[in-house]
Amino acid sequence: MADDCIFCKIVAGDLPSETVQEDEHTVAFMDLNPWTRGHALVVPRTHSRNLYEIDDADLGRAAAAARRLALRMRDTLGCDGVNLLNCCEPAAWQTVFHTHIHVIPRYDDDPLQLPVRPHQAGQDELAAVAAQLRTG
Ligand code: AMP
Ligand code: ZN
Repeated sequence: MADDCIFCKIVAGDLPSETVQEDEHTVAFMDLNPWTRGHALVVPRTHSRNLYEIDDADLGRAAAAARRLALRMRDTLGCDGVNLLNCCEPAAWQTVFHTHIHVIPRYDDDPLQLPVRPHQAGQDELAAVAAQLRTG
């Protein structure tokens, strides 16, 4: 448990949450500021800051728990689809620094929109960035 981590406190039962699913390694609870009806967060019980830091086994368990929750949302809320979202570091919108996966049920008539307008890249641009990634 990390000092001053609100999700560690929720996992420990020291802060309230609307928990909807739990197992030995993960807990899922309702997001306080839902993007859609049913928006929940899956967190590993073990603290890690984010995707950069989490170990593979914990990440795998969190992903599997997110999938189970997505199926539960389909079957209980009747959603038409689900988005999984993970934010790693403030540049990528992370605000709580305990790894979590947003599980966001989607409805055909919900108001969410893609936050970007993708542009098609030129072949040179793709080749350059791919070459850079392959050096790693
Ligand atoms: P992120 O921006 O990806 O780090 O997401 C953090 C999420 O945690 C936000 O969607 C917040 O609404 C949510 N959140 C913050 N505090 C709590 C809390 N005490 N209980 C439930 N959700 C929370
Ligand atoms: Zn934590």
